[in-house]
Amino acid sequence: MHFAPDSTATLEFIRDLANTVAGATKTGLDELSSQPELIALLDRHRYSGRFDRDDTELAEVRQTREHLRTIWMLDRDSAAGEVNLLLSEAGALPYLVRHDEFDWHLHAVGQDEPLAVRIRVESGLALMDVVRNNEMARLRHCAAPDCDGLLLDLSRNGSKRFCSVRCGNRMNMVAFRERAAADEPNGYAPSDYDL
Ligand SMILES: [Zn+2]
Ligand SMILES: [Zn+2]
Repeated sequence: MHFAPDSTATLEFIRDLANTVAGATKTGLDELSSQPELIALLDRHRYSGRFDRDDTELAEVRQTREHLRTIWMLDRDSAAGEVNLLLSEAGALPYLVRHDEFDWHLHAVGQDEPLAVRIRVESGLALMDVVRNNEMARLRHCAAPDCDGLLLDLSRNGSKRFCSVRCGNRMNMVAFRERAAADEPNGYAPSDYDL
């Protein structure tokens, strides 16, 4: 599955942003509750432009996280409307730019706009690519019932099911135990098995 490289990078950012909610993290804590956590996320994705590093900015990014989590799960027609809103509300005007180590890619608002605005616009541009390619099905919820994680499935056959190796392993373990229990109705101890 191929989207434009800047779209893919943004979709990965949305996924990582979305997966900072308490129900999706390894720690079970909200991992976007402080400035250092926000900075770490932005650094991982080599975000550039204006950073206010204040409570307002953090609150706006957290709000944007919820918004993008909702859009991620929409059907194509609903997503199209939301994407148009993301872009129109910010007065987005796409242009090509080359900066830092990044080759030609799209921006649609200035680098001096607030961080949350830039995240929403960038997300809108990336999601446009997804809607136009009719690939909303690549944006999914983790199949683990106890996980709030979102996943981006860029695999060839679209067979990815879990947000993380952690969820994959956990659910494999559950399936294994269920199979073992079905095979041995007299009971068993999971520790007897070489996992
Ligand atoms: Zn850029
Ligand atoms: Zn998960």
